[in-house]
Amino acid sequence: MAAARLQRPAQTGQSGVDRTGRRLQGGVRTKAEKDGREWVINGAKMWCTNASIAEYIITLVRTDPAGGSRSLSMIIVPTDTPGLTIGPAEKKMGLHGSPTHAVTYEDVRVPLDNLVGEEGKGLQQTLATLDGGRISIGAISVGLAQAAFEYATNYARERQAFGHPIADLQAIQWMLANMVTQIEAARTLLYKSAWLKEQGRPYTMEAAMAKMFATEMAEKVCRDAIQVHGGYGYSREYPVERLYRDARLMTIGEGTSEIHRLVIARHVLKMEF
Ligand SMILES: Cc1cc2nc3c(=O)[nH]c(=O)nc-3n(C[C@H](O)[C@H](O)[C@H](O)COP(=O)(O)OP(=O)(O)OC[C@H]3O[C@@H](n4cnc5c(N)ncnc54)[C@H](O)[C@@H]3O)c2cc1C
Repeated sequence: MAAARLQRPAQTGQSGVDRTGRRLQGGVRTKAEKDGREWVINGAKMWCTNASIAEYIITLVRTDPAGGSRSLSMIIVPTDTPGLTIGPAEKKMGLHGSPTHAVTYEDVRVPLDNLVGEEGKGLQQTLATLDGGRISIGAISVGLAQAAFEYATNYARERQAFGHPIADLQAIQWMLANMVTQIEAARTLLYKSAWLKEQGRPYTMEAAMAKMFATEMAEKVCRDAIQVHGGYGYSREYPVERLYRDARLMTIGEGTSEIHRLVIARHVLKMEF
């Protein structure tokens, strides 16, 4: 298994790439310098998913201190390399099946061959990875929502209140109808962006739309699934509270909803009608 680590972004004003790219371009402080036949890496990164169970970490580093769009590169770092320290697992709200760690690099040495692709292509590689990652997070969100919807529907059919299943109540039916419609809409957006990717066509905007919509939809659907369960929805005895906690990350990880709105708006403002 591999973990990917990008750098915590910071604001800059360089041009030539979109806002996500600019933030990456200016924010990466982990650096790699050549020494003989090796890279020497120094830096740190919060929020490295699965670092403690991964065999290597694909690390985005600054290889040209002068900056600019060709100053970043990706390097494969095995997690047992001396100088690489993986901190304790973060105490998170959800996603407890996937540990998240801070990672530090102190004079970490790896062969020059561990460079991924070409030197200076890290920014483009990262943006391409993020586009694909958006589809993955969208898919996770559709899955979380689908599970929550199925649990809610089954519970509504079983739970008797005042002599009838709560599924007979219009308020519950409307929640279920909204859930299934929103899930289907997200799934359709997701399939379209995945299809565009498969065709080798541009899909940055579609992936951003699918990610933003699916993640926000999942949070709402999981919330409503708890509502359908009433008090039991809030209990760990039933799975919907876990789905809600897991879904909460999806509008944050792999780029926040706010950043996705910026990405989408950047495409919209280039459109001609
Ligand atoms: C459990 C977990 C696992 C993670 N795993 C990984 C991983 O494996 N690899 C990795 O590289 N990263 C990982 N991350 C990091 C994650 O991608 C970032 O937390 C996320 O992209 C948000 O960045 P940030 O935390 O720096 O928030 P910030 O950038 O500080 O944002 C804070 C708030 O400000 C808003 N904001 C920031 N800039 C703008 C702007 N220009 N316009 C409008 N609003 C803005 C944000 O939307 C957000 O609401 C993980 C995070 C978590 C919580």
